[in-house]
Amino acid sequence: MKILDVDVAVIGAGSAGLTAYRAAKSHGGKVLLIERGPNGTTCARVGCMPSKLLIAAADAAYHAADAAGFGVHAGPVRIDGEAVMARVRAERDRFVGFVLEGVEAIDASDRLTGSVRFLGPQQLQVDEHTVVNAARIVIATGSSPRMPEQLQSLGDRLIDNEQLFNWTSLPESVAVLGTGVVGLELGQALHRLGVRVTLFGRGENIGPLSDPEVMRSARDCLGDELDLRLGNQRFDAQRDNDGVLVQSAGADGVVRSEHFSLVLAAAGRVPNLAGLQLEHAGLELDKRGIPHFNRTTMQCGSSTIFIAGDVDAELPLLHEAVDQGRIAGNNAGGFPDVQAGLRRTPLSIVFCDPQIALVGQRFSDLVPRRYVTGSLSFVEQGRSRVMRQNRGVLRLYAELGSGRFLGAEMVGPRAEHLAHLLAWACQNQMTVTQMLEMPFYHPVVEEGVRTALRHLQQALEKDVPEIEHCADCTPGM
Ligand SMILES: Cc1cc2nc3c(=O)[nH]c(=O)nc-3n(C[C@H](O)[C@H](O)[C@H](O)COP(=O)(O)OP(=O)(O)OC[C@H]3O[C@@H](n4cnc5c(N)ncnc54)[C@H](O)[C@@H]3O)c2cc1C
Repeated sequence: MKILDVDVAVIGAGSAGLTAYRAAKSHGGKVLLIERGPNGTTCARVGCMPSKLLIAAADAAYHAADAAGFGVHAGPVRIDGEAVMARVRAERDRFVGFVLEGVEAIDASDRLTGSVRFLGPQQLQVDEHTVVNAARIVIATGSSPRMPEQLQSLGDRLIDNEQLFNWTSLPESVAVLGTGVVGLELGQALHRLGVRVTLFGRGENIGPLSDPEVMRSARDCLGDELDLRLGNQRFDAQRDNDGVLVQSAGADGVVRSEHFSLVLAAAGRVPNLAGLQLEHAGLELDKRGIPHFNRTTMQCGSSTIFIAGDVDAELPLLHEAVDQGRIAGNNAGGFPDVQAGLRRTPLSIVFCDPQIALVGQRFSDLVPRRYVTGSLSFVEQGRSRVMRQNRGVLRLYAELGSGRFLGAEMVGPRAEHLAHLLAWACQNQMTVTQMLEMPFYHPVVEEGVRTALRHLQQALEKDVPEIEHCADCTPGM
């Protein structure tokens, strides 16, 4: 058994781990990056990038067919599934290549291959070949798709995003299990590429939305195009001759039997904690088995262990993984000087069409009676109508009294850009008045934001702030 003594060991060479490694390294000392493989990061290999490549092809197909609405006839759209997937894989491999180059550039003595488990709070076992004594440790092991236990008998007909991006052609049909971010993005893309797709959701939720008005609009917009089955009470599937027989029951209880080529598991992701043997790490865990950690320092309790990325299940997004990795790496490298790092205004985007986005405080997180809302329907919004993308709704939230902009939820055209604009305003703690003082060009989708801000301003002027004191402090009120 080889023994290594290091200052910092980083477990996982994904986006969080690579950033943590570089940050820890900047403090001097010996830093070791341990990866069980494959290298290349979830983002580049099987996540953000290949999904956006598939969506780009789907959008091309959709807009070619939709051009007729402008009086432009592109002819019958023909989708060459092999060519679509060849481009997805080729471009994906290019992105992965850049990541691999970055990993290769790391000094070989700073890298180790193998699966890690804890032997103690400062000791790791890597496969059966190396014991690492690490003064500080960063856990950055990412997450994996949740594969429903009852569907395991489907074998290779139950797939996840990883297998999908390795396809060499497109299947005839796919049952997508889950209406979260991955299910919506991949389900709609496959549908637009000519695959027969049904999306099954257990609840009524659409992606990460929590505002009932936006959720309703998203359900309508997406339900107009997709076979979207929400409120599903039952989903069973068995292998049959050349695919899968799915039995499902909706809210009405009526059982339907349908044949699909494959089932895509998109029912959430689980942090990669199994196998780490965290019971030897001396950490306090929550009921999901995730270590308690401070979200500004990424330190687990008062230990010498830090956590970053999808594994902590806080905000499983790329930019959050990178930010958390930087904070965790800096604090592991600079220990015991543990500093709070920058956590930005929450921002999440679903690249379905119309896009869904959330900024700042979610509707469900707002303090009751302390906020007002402003809305805008994109149906009559000028530029959205010009582009034939006039669907969806924008809802903005502001704090009563201060007039501070708190957050937004939306489904609509160019939501990825509107969300950035709003996130920057939110992080700068701008008030609604200050936001309305900013320039707005004409005619742009952003004018819709201005309309919603004006509604917000009117609501702020109309509403009297709640009395600050508790009832007990102001008897008789
Ligand atoms: C289909 C899909 C689309 C997505 N699209 C977007 C998007 O558009 N925008 C966005 O912001 N986010 C998106 N995400 C989320 C984003 O990809 C993740 O938040 C991000 O990649 C997480 O990075 P990470 O470093 O935490 O994990 P990873 O990149 O998965 O890295 C974890 C690493 O740890 C290694 N590891 C695990 N266990 C061990 C062990 N015991 N020992 C050694 N090594 C181990 C793994 O092999 C892996 O390499 C998407 C995700 C998916 C699945």
